[in-house]
Amino acid sequence: MASIFSKIIAGIIPAYKIAEDADFLAFLDINPLAKGHTLVIPKMEVDKAFDLPKDVLAKWLVFAQPIAHAIEPEFPCNRCGISVVGLEVPHAHMHLIPLQDIGSMNFSRPKLTLSSEEFLEVQTKLLGALERSK
Ligand code: AMP
Repeated sequence: MASIFSKIIAGIIPAYKIAEDADFLAFLDINPLAKGHTLVIPKMEVDKAFDLPKDVLAKWLVFAQPIAHAIEPEFPCNRCGISVVGLEVPHAHMHLIPLQDIGSMNFSRPKLTLSSEEFLEVQTKLLGALERSK
């Protein structure tokens, strides 16, 4: 099913991209719970995460691993958390969120409103960390 995320994959609408390969894309959540909140999606148009083919499901976590490792030092936190919700956008996506405590994963609390400069700063930090990790 095509969703707003398919439009991001196709480049029809913009996103602050963090990483991409043939099968996956990572970009900053536009309404983040914290600076560094990143979405990681398979390019395959599947709504529910556990409906993905087994090989895509397995590769998804491996694709996300260096991004989580980049988030942790760049956005001081206890650790990078992972969550799959999907109640808003019907295209499988995992949230990577720097956690301070359990409240950091509370999706019902107010989101941050970041300026484009702040998004670019977050993107630059993550791209730099990913580049250094190669
Ligand atoms: P959920 O489907 O409940 O897991 O949440 C969907 C997430 O996608 C929310 O955190 C939104 O802020 C995020 N989101 C929706 N549209 C965009 C977009 N165009 N670019 C980046 N993030 C988005």
